[in-house]
Amino acid sequence: MESMKRFHIAIIGSGVAGLSLAYFLAKKGAKRVLLLEQEKRLGLHASGKNAGMIRQVVTQEAIGRLALEGATFLRTRPPEWKVPYHSCGSLLLAKGKEKETLHRAASLAQKIGLGMRWLSVKQSIERVFVLKRADFEEALFCPTDGIIDIHALLRGYYEEAKEKGIEIWMGAKAQSIDADGEGGFKLSTSRGKVRAEILVNAAGAWAELIAQRAGASPISFRSYRRHLILSKPLKKVEPHWPFVWDMAHAVYFRPEKGGLLLSPCDQDPLPPGGCPADRSLAWGRLKERLVYFPMLPKISIRRIWGGLRTFSPDDNFCIGWDGSLKNFFWVAGLDGHGMTTSSAVGELASDLLLGRRIDRKMAEHFSPRRFQTGRVEEGD
Ligand SMILES: Cc1cc2nc3c(=O)[nH]c(=O)nc-3n(C[C@H](O)[C@H](O)[C@H](O)COP(=O)(O)OP(=O)(O)OC[C@H]3O[C@@H](n4cnc5c(N)ncnc54)[C@H](O)[C@@H]3O)c2cc1C
Repeated sequence: MESMKRFHIAIIGSGVAGLSLAYFLAKKGAKRVLLLEQEKRLGLHASGKNAGMIRQVVTQEAIGRLALEGATFLRTRPPEWKVPYHSCGSLLLAKGKEKETLHRAASLAQKIGLGMRWLSVKQSIERVFVLKRADFEEALFCPTDGIIDIHALLRGYYEEAKEKGIEIWMGAKAQSIDADGEGGFKLSTSRGKVRAEILVNAAGAWAELIAQRAGASPISFRSYRRHLILSKPLKKVEPHWPFVWDMAHAVYFRPEKGGLLLSPCDQDPLPPGGCPADRSLAWGRLKERLVYFPMLPKISIRRIWGGLRTFSPDDNFCIGWDGSLKNFFWVAGLDGHGMTTSSAVGELASDLLLGRRIDRKMAEHFSPRRFQTGRVEEGD
């Protein structure tokens, strides 16, 4: 008969959410923790396919707080992690009605103590000369924003979590999940059977599916494909440029590998999965937006890919105990901020799981119970 391995906590998903949580659990002394990942390699989904921009100026205060904490962690990361952080800053551009959104984000950022400043059009062009004749009216510069090497970051969390005793099974898909009636879970995985007292859903775009399998409260997540386009090397690009995000025309670009990494900020609904790119659609959308930057050099495509950004029903993160299924915990819906906030998400989730002192207001703000009407059992 096949033996069943027993764990205190099993985490489903080794994206940045699951990895960061595993790392902080281990750091805080948690024992018998298993991390399950269906893929054989790290970073095959959102966490390995994103733009790596660490952006702290956002439109929701609570996410802004996590972004500030997350960015500070990344800037002062442990040296042995070998995770390059490029402190290039960011330049957020707006015109027309987007100015109001940018002003709102700036006042939220100011309230939480983030340093930034408004630049005139002339000052913006001095920083990034291809902004000459671009179509914007206001620019906000945040000097502590930057770029992270996303694969090195995933590897950093992975190595440290493993070092500190977390068991990690790659190529192990959680197939059936049965709540065993005693507040625990039996899982069959492609690498054997597992029993865990606590189950964590960090499955990114698959989070709703995992909850369904376990019999947790239904929360409808939406996942949207966003394309990234890497250009061939370009003579005019200077590697020290901040990343430029034009909110009015929905496009961003930043230096990468001697060229530019760009996105038309598109969002097409797509089910969980491999997220294939639609090259001509992406390129067509990007070209439409680049007319607002007449000084940008002509782009030749080196590579195009797509990744899924996953949103909860109110576009806010979903971190905490389920409202109806005992011992089922969520870390999902990190939308477009998962890399920036990863360490803060891992800190908060691990504190909640370990029953440590936490900022109650933050915990309530992110709690999945806000969507749930079912009976609440005290898993925490
Ligand atoms: C194009 C793009 C650009 C982005 N740019 C940025 C940016 O510049 N800055 C930023 O902060 N954020 C950015 N993001 C957002 C960021 O990438 C996400 O918020 C983050 O990666 C989400 O991490 P996750 O761990 O929740 O999901 P994922 O990385 O998708 O991880 C979930 C994991 O769960 C696994 N899984 C699912 N089901 C099972 C199962 N049954 N058994 C075992 N394993 C399972 C999957 O295989 C997957 O590896 C961007 C996203 C995209 C798509």
